[in-house]
Order: sequence, then C-alpha cells, then structure tokens
Amino acid sequence: MGYRVVYSVVVPIFNEELVILESYKRLKEVMDKTNEEYELVFVNDGSRDSTKKKTELICEKDDRVKLVNFSRNFGHQAAITAGMDVAVGDAIVVIDADLQDPPEVILQMIEKWKQGYEVVYGKRAKREGETFFKKITSSMYYRILKSMTNVDVPVDVGDFRLIDRKVCDALASLPEKSRYVRGLVSWVGFKQTYVEFVRHERFAGETKYPLKKMVKLALDGITSLSYKPLAFSSYMGVIFSIIGVIAAISIIIRNVVLKAHVLSLGLLLSLIVIMFGMLFVTNGIMGQYIARIFEESKERPVYIIDNIVNYKEQDMQRKKVN
Ligand code: UDP
Ligand code: MG
Repeated sequence: MGYRVVYSVVVPIFNEELVILESYKRLKEVMDKTNEEYELVFVNDGSRDSTKKKTELICEKDDRVKLVNFSRNFGHQAAITAGMDVAVGDAIVVIDADLQDPPEVILQMIEKWKQGYEVVYGKRAKREGETFFKKITSSMYYRILKSMTNVDVPVDVGDFRLIDRKVCDALASLPEKSRYVRGLVSWVGFKQTYVEFVRHERFAGETKYPLKKMVKLALDGITSLSYKPLAFSSYMGVIFSIIGVIAAISIIIRNVVLKAHVLSLGLLLSLIVIMFGMLFVTNGIMGQYIARIFEESKERPVYIIDNIVNYKEQDMQRKKVN
C-alpha cells in the first residue's frame, strides 16, 4: 500500500562488529535527510564474530534495515551482487561498512542521479590511513587495467557508487560468476559520471582484504575485462625466436669466418633460465583463464543465502531472489 522504496543502500559486512552500529547510525542520519523512502541492505558475508547478532538487533528496531545472511564467506564482490539482487530501490548505492567511504557523499550522488545520470561513482581524490604499499599498488593497478582493455574503466574508483534500477537489472542479467562488479558496471555503459571524495581511515577494526584477496580481485578484474595477457605468450615467442636466430647467425659467422669457438656456458645457462621462466609465466597466464572457464562451467551460484531478516511480502512479489 503506497510502499515504494526510492533508495537502497547495500552494505557488505564481514566481521564488522566494531563498526556496524556506527555505520548504521551514520547511514540512517544521511538517508533520513532525503525525505524519501529508503532501505538499508546489510549483507553478512559469513561473519564469524557478533556482526550477525548486532545487525539483527538493529533490524528489530528498524524495519527499513534488511539483513541478508550468507551460508558462509563468499567474498566482497559476491556480497555486493547479492545486495543488488535483493534491493528494490529505484537507485541503489553500494558502500563499505567501515566508513572509509563517507556516507554524506551519497547525497551528492543522489543529486547527480536526479540530474539524469544512471551511474555515479565515487572517485578517490585522496586516501587517508592506508599503507604506502596499498596506495601505490592500487594506483598502478587501475592504470594497467585501463591500458589493457577497451572498456572505459575509471581509475582510482572502488565499489562505492550509485546505480540506477536500469543498471542494476542489466548487471543482474549478466550470468558470469567471477564478478568484478566495478568492471561490469563500466561494461554495461549508460550515462556515467562521478563525485570526488576523500577516503578516510577505517572507523575501527582491521582491513578484511588481506593480500591474497586483493590479488584475486586484481586478477578477476584483468581476466574479466581483457584478453591481452594471453597475447603476451605470442609476443614472447616472437621475441625469443628472433633472439635465437640472431644468436645462431652470429655464432656461425664467428666460428666459420673468424675461426673462433665462442660459447659461453654462463650465457647459455642464463638464456635457458630466462626461457623457462617465460614458459612458466605464459603457462600461468593461460592457467588463470582456464581456471575461470572451469569456474564458469560449473555454473554454481555466486552466493548462497541462509536467510533474510525483514524481507517483506511486497519485495517477494517484486523480486525473485536466487
Ligand atoms: N567484506 C566482505 N567480505 C569479505 C571481505 C570484505 O563483505 O570477504 C566487506 C567489509 O566488511 C567491508 C568491505 O567489504 O565493508 C570492504 O572491506 P575492507 O574495508 O576490509 O577493505 P579495504 O577498504 O581495506 O580495501
Ligand atoms: Mg575499508
């Protein structure tokens, strides 16, 4: 009855017991200012601490808060995907729970959306409280990724963004399982713009993105948007063949014309090591793509939902989850 959600805010949470209450308060404060109907969709990505209990308590007091509980940890990108699948709003905002992305920026995103933009991403003008290593690797990564693909991926942009219902439905229609959501959003197109913001320090707790998860996300990004790395082995093949021919000719000339027997064992050994190295690298690259083909071919779902708290009857009719 007259129930229509305008804004959905999707928040992936994994072991965020120190953050969740503050995160809810700040988001509520900001979203109340819109004077329009909204929902907060927290996606609990298999937390092992009291995150679930604390969020359930919030849900009891505020029925605009939904909690999607996964059956285990499926990862940040799966959590975002689930949140967008469950969300019923006309505009959907994805934001981290740790308040590194300031919730107040959502209001600027909404302004842009009202001007007719269908994707408004948050561009990190400055990053505070992150290690030099993380800043430099991530800055390099976004630039390398951009140079590798024809898709227009913006640099220094994470998953903090607003998308229109149209974009959300387009994303849901993409069947791929290894989801690099920010890349997919660029790929689907639509009218895109950005707002700049300063990325703050984490409100509390530690990063839930250890190096291993970061590397996986980075590889998912490259393999999902570009096949250039596969061409690397053919380039290497050509380069080494040319070096081989030049070396052979020069040795023949030296032996026949100059009658000098030049064969450096050291040089030979290092060439063999380099070539083996290259072979392993190119094999590894192929392996990365094959692994992803294998993953896709299994056709398993991106995530499995245990239960959803505060999921309403109206939502059931509007959306079919999983
Ligand atoms: N997160 C998640 N599942 C994971 C890892 C992280 O849902 O397996 C969530 C986490 O709770 C946070 C967001 O993803 O809301 C970003 O994680 P984090 O802030 O730890 O990453 P960082 O900002 O350090 O890159
Ligand atoms: Mg963070």
